[in-house]
Amino acid sequence: MQYSSRDKISKSYDVIVVGAGLAGMTLANKMARDGRSVLLLESHNKLGGFATWFKRLEGEHIFDVSLHGFPVGMIKTCRKYWSREIADRIHQLKSVRYINPQFEVETDFTKEHFIKVLNEHFGVSIESVQAFFDELGAMNFYDNSQMTNGELFQKHFPGRNDITRFLLEPIVYANGSNLEDPAISYGIVFSNFMSKGVYIFQGGTDLMISMMKDELLKNGVDIQTQARVDKILVNNDKRVYGVEIKGHQIISHSVVSNSNLKSTVQKMVGENYFSEEFVKKTAAVRLNTSSCQVYMGIKKGESIPFVGDLVFTSEDSSFSTDLILSPKVGSQTFSVYYPDSRPHLAPAHAVVSSSNARFEDWINLSESEYQKQKEYIIEKAISGLEKIIPGVRQKIDYVDAATPLTVERYTLHEKGASFGTKFEGLDVSMNMHKELDGLFHAGSVGIIMSGWLGAANYGVIQAHEVDNYLSRLEKSGSKEK
Ligand SMILES: Cc1cc2nc3c(=O)[nH]c(=O)nc-3n(C[C@H](O)[C@H](O)[C@H](O)COP(=O)(O)OP(=O)(O)OC[C@H]3O[C@@H](n4cnc5c(N)ncnc54)[C@H](O)[C@@H]3O)c2cc1C
Repeated sequence: MQYSSRDKISKSYDVIVVGAGLAGMTLANKMARDGRSVLLLESHNKLGGFATWFKRLEGEHIFDVSLHGFPVGMIKTCRKYWSREIADRIHQLKSVRYINPQFEVETDFTKEHFIKVLNEHFGVSIESVQAFFDELGAMNFYDNSQMTNGELFQKHFPGRNDITRFLLEPIVYANGSNLEDPAISYGIVFSNFMSKGVYIFQGGTDLMISMMKDELLKNGVDIQTQARVDKILVNNDKRVYGVEIKGHQIISHSVVSNSNLKSTVQKMVGENYFSEEFVKKTAAVRLNTSSCQVYMGIKKGESIPFVGDLVFTSEDSSFSTDLILSPKVGSQTFSVYYPDSRPHLAPAHAVVSSSNARFEDWINLSESEYQKQKEYIIEKAISGLEKIIPGVRQKIDYVDAATPLTVERYTLHEKGASFGTKFEGLDVSMNMHKELDGLFHAGSVGIIMSGWLGAANYGVIQAHEVDNYLSRLEKSGSKEK
């Protein structure tokens, strides 16, 4: 059932899920289907977390915030843990383009085409390309290699900054990883992402989340939105027993936090409940960087030509982590939404520009500096788009921008981290239940478990853990069935 935000929930649950991002929702759906009683609490007024959208000009424009592309694996995940109808709406993007001072390339983002481009465009021998892919393919999640992405590219393509850009730039946008991150995380993401192209949900994020919400309710998940959890409750035996919202307690056998990893430990539970070592480990987890976006709506009745679905552009003469995060926004990616993005609605075009950004570059600005910087990124986006679609400026009738501060405000992720935490976050997230009985975490952590597919799959992994815990409670008699 759907509770109203004013309801004081008195029922108790097998599991309470704090946060309705793709990880929290997928976990909730799986556990309800497996017969567990589930309450899903979301602080925002709609489900989805980062998988979100907003409407402007009385619904004339709908903008997707994070529906730019995900790996083919999302089809299987949706079919298995959601529904065939949801999975059937996922389809491949036709054209991914790069436009920068080093090269211009168009690709369908498959491994086969990447091999061809590396060989024919960048002049690398097939043997060398194969050796690179072989090394990626052999990478294992549990490898303990210290090699960084920068070192990996240097090893296979020495001195080729252009090839590094070709290979890494999309992954920087896909999960925030950079040249200093472990090569293992890149290798696994790359292998997954590159095997069969980039995919998108046809119908828009709004349709997908509404289909998922119907599914959750059908499977018996109780949902409350505008329900911001203040505390996760722990008893003297270091066992979690529920949550607190504005002083009201809701009781459960387990709690899964889909909120930011650090805030879960440091704020919602409180560091004093954890071992010293775990607190230290949590404090040392680095957050991922944030994002800026510019949303551009094309006037009703106007249209734009097909220029590709995803266009990675840059005016920086070379590629580096610093340049890609710079407030000067030398690099931005355009997601172009044509009318077939939402075939069930009146024809509309929209373009979203995304760039990576650092929270620190925005938080210390005065109000007027902040507005000025926002205008700067808007102008950067429009003039950048003009280079791909001449004359588009006159066709735009709505434009606005989101900054790392917007991301933080809407998702409660510390410092507006777009992809959760860096690699070390996974260890903290996965071991939370070893510190406190009944406490679990699911959500974007550690590069691999991030993005739409990573978050949803991590929800499934954690659903198994919670289920095992509940079964153990049942066996030991400490949970009445
Ligand atoms: C600009 C941008 C572009 C992106 N583009 C892509 C892309 O093209 N492809 C891709 O695969 N991924 C993309 N991502 C990443 C992807 O959207 C996320 O990795 C994924 O959606 C995160 O899911 P999650 O389950 O970790 O939870 P989140 O989406 O982070 O959701 C967490 C939820 O918990 C709620 N919450 C937090 N604290 C509380 C509390 N105390 N009480 C109640 N509720 C709480 C929040 O309101 C939120 O709804 C993008 C992200 C951003 C920011």
